[in-house]
Amino acid sequence: MNAYQALNQLVTPVWILAVAEREILFANQAAVRLSLGVNVDELRHGRYSVHAEEDIMAYLPALRSQEEVVEIWTVQQNEQSAPLSCRLSLLRPEEDNEQILVEGLLYSLPAPKPYPADDLWENSVYDKLFHSNSAPMLLIDPAADGRIVDANLAATKFYGYSREDFCRKHTWEINSLGREIMGIMNEVAKLPGGHRPLNFVHRMADGSLRDVQTYCGPLELDDRRLMMCIIHDVTEQKRLKKELEYAASRDPLTGLWNRRQFVNLLEAARTQKRRNDVEYSVLLVDADHFKTINDQYGHQSGDEVLMRLASTLENRVRDSDAVCRWGGEEFIVLLPQTDLESAVHLAHCLRAAIEQIQMPQIQCITVSIGAAQHQPAESTESLLKRADAALYRAKALGRNRVESS
Ligand code: GH3
Ligand code: MG
Ligand code: MG
Repeated sequence: MNAYQALNQLVTPVWILAVAEREILFANQAAVRLSLGVNVDELRHGRYSVHAEEDIMAYLPALRSQEEVVEIWTVQQNEQSAPLSCRLSLLRPEEDNEQILVEGLLYSLPAPKPYPADDLWENSVYDKLFHSNSAPMLLIDPAADGRIVDANLAATKFYGYSREDFCRKHTWEINSLGREIMGIMNEVAKLPGGHRPLNFVHRMADGSLRDVQTYCGPLELDDRRLMMCIIHDVTEQKRLKKELEYAASRDPLTGLWNRRQFVNLLEAARTQKRRNDVEYSVLLVDADHFKTINDQYGHQSGDEVLMRLASTLENRVRDSDAVCRWGGEEFIVLLPQTDLESAVHLAHCLRAAIEQIQMPQIQCITVSIGAAQHQPAESTESLLKRADAALYRAKALGRNRVESS
């Protein structure tokens, strides 16, 4: 144990544990004062003890990859039990007799002025609720320009600021709303209690942005009315939601609107016309002899032609128009604020543009188009039927042409 004698010079309490045996191998003098006659089990499972893992062995994978592990131990101070936050790290990770170094965190870093160390920082309930919580938490003073009074370990990890850096910051420095957040915060601070989830975008120390949901509630401490905020990172959830929304409304092959979404757009156009008397038209576009393309060049090439048709249509219409993959090799275009004459004109342009498509090996891709303008009080079903009838005529009259109804 002589190798460890130098640790007796430290003011910080330090224990060295034999992991497999769950025994204290060494405690420096500061640690002995806090744990005389007490074993590891009692320190870790005492009155104030809080930990993430019941069995200390379970931390080994995390410790081996140098992740920080902190738990709260119950120590003896002035013949009374007291909580002590402890940081765990691995000693001699390359040898097979792994040992854990436990350092007691004495909170030698007091909160910056005007928040001198007071009951708050030594309060065991506060310690348990705040510092040992795995959710990032910030304590904010709305009356002091949104000053961040304290940040727990999870928050320092999440944001990438040290606790001291945090305590020099204000909530408007991490919220992407900037100073506007102050008005919102003052409102939330007036609320009687309970955590309210609010969605914000927060800026990390490295400048990156994350979507967060914050649960804020007032916390009366002495005569100060502070706000306790729990931060929940929802960036990934938001991304997935967007992906799901995209998948639900788009055709996976071409990325165009799918039939379901297009029906909604058609209904919206009908409502718009009823309210504001704005004309609209549709174009039903069907690839000619597409079966032959599949048969001659294979299904994969057929798919590539469909993608090319989709991009040609999309590139030729206005932003306010909507292009949809209606079915296999059939597309439909919604043209808001467009009468039949203009719709037919556009249909001719689309037909000509598609005829010009050049793809290796594939000879001449053409489409037939049926155009129809919505009639007063007409149902969507009837409009689509008329467009389909026009398309049928275009096919019957030789394909690669536009007909209207
Ligand atoms: P027409 O000029 O009368 O429209 O003839 P067509 O061959 O285009 O029409 P038909 O309805 O007989 O055939 C459509 C073909 O489109 C048959 C089908 O296999 C093909 N098809 C439908 N969806 C896809 C797809 O997603 N990928 C590929 N490669 N082919 C598809
Ligand atoms: Mg076809
Ligand atoms: Mg077809």
